[in-house]
Amino acid sequence: MTDTLKKLYETNDLGREELVYLLENLTTEDKPVLIRYAHETRLKYYGPKVFMRGLVEFSNYCKQDCLYCGLRASNKEVIRYRLTKEEIISSCQEGYALGYRTFVLQSGEDYTYTEQILIDIIRGVKQLFPDAALTLSIGERDFEVYKNLYEAGADRFLLRHETASKELYKTLHPTMSYENRMKCLKMLKEIGYQVGAGFMVGLPGQTAVHLAEDLIFLKEFHPHMIGIGPFIPHSETPLKDEKGGTVEDTVVLVALARLLVPDALIPATTAMGSLHPRGRELALEAGANVVMPNLTPVQYRDKYELYENKICLNDEPAHCQGCIERRINSVGLQVDMGRGDHLNNPVRK
Ligand code: SAH
Repeated sequence: MTDTLKKLYETNDLGREELVYLLENLTTEDKPVLIRYAHETRLKYYGPKVFMRGLVEFSNYCKQDCLYCGLRASNKEVIRYRLTKEEIISSCQEGYALGYRTFVLQSGEDYTYTEQILIDIIRGVKQLFPDAALTLSIGERDFEVYKNLYEAGADRFLLRHETASKELYKTLHPTMSYENRMKCLKMLKEIGYQVGAGFMVGLPGQTAVHLAEDLIFLKEFHPHMIGIGPFIPHSETPLKDEKGGTVEDTVVLVALARLLVPDALIPATTAMGSLHPRGRELALEAGANVVMPNLTPVQYRDKYELYENKICLNDEPAHCQGCIERRINSVGLQVDMGRGDHLNNPVRK
């Protein structure tokens, strides 16, 4: 294994068989070596900086029915909410005052926010905060819509591929198609967005072969951002009795993603922090270099329940600021409040 890890560190590449072997045979002695390599790779590309993104979860309505997600359309127990343009802007305003220069607007797939309404929101945010980057995470739309949102000022787009295995994708997404997910990712990149892909670890039926496929997909697609988190079962979904992913396994996948796509921006996800008190720190040590504190107004926070026991439900943004900074410093890294663009994507004119 030592040779395989060394090769991965030196070439940022491994074949499919080698990845499967690694995922199936990594020992407790190998893990610290993998993590150190991932950490050093991060230092080489981005230094000891951790970029901050202010997250605004602006609607929990969703027309899709993903088996794992607490916001799925079939879950009638959720109290649904939508933020107005003014509420979204004032959430960003609060973040801006704390120093945030990237805002991530995330929602379920909610077509009540039409193209025109989204354009209006994007223009509103960019007009007030022209030096901030704006990221969308709103699911699948048509090429024209994606393009017009980009023209309106959106800079980045997060759309996890969820799993690169067509078979597994199918079993988890009764209302969606693998082909369209992949098509959307390609369109977003073609339009010019900085694009985020990513997947969950510990999905029911997921094997080392599936995870190797996820990593190979990331290597080939070369997204600007990579979100990886453990799957956490939600009691109001069909997967409520499944086991879910572990922090330990997810850390390994974060480290492998860092080594295979060394220039990616990789968040230490909230799901990691929700499973383990030091979950985000463990991801940061394994090559993650982004955190996404929550700017959603506190009265809506607990309703954006992708999974249960989400952290920071009652924390005001100002409180999060100090808490996150301490956590980042505790693992020897530094907060960077700048836009935190990808290395190959300078700010667009
Ligand atoms: N509707 C948007 C945003 C989805 S929510 C979209 O389609 O992109 C953001 C991410 O949360 C999803 O991409 C998924 O990977 C993750 N997620 C959903 N349910 C989860 C669960 N039960 N456990 C862990 N992560 C989950």
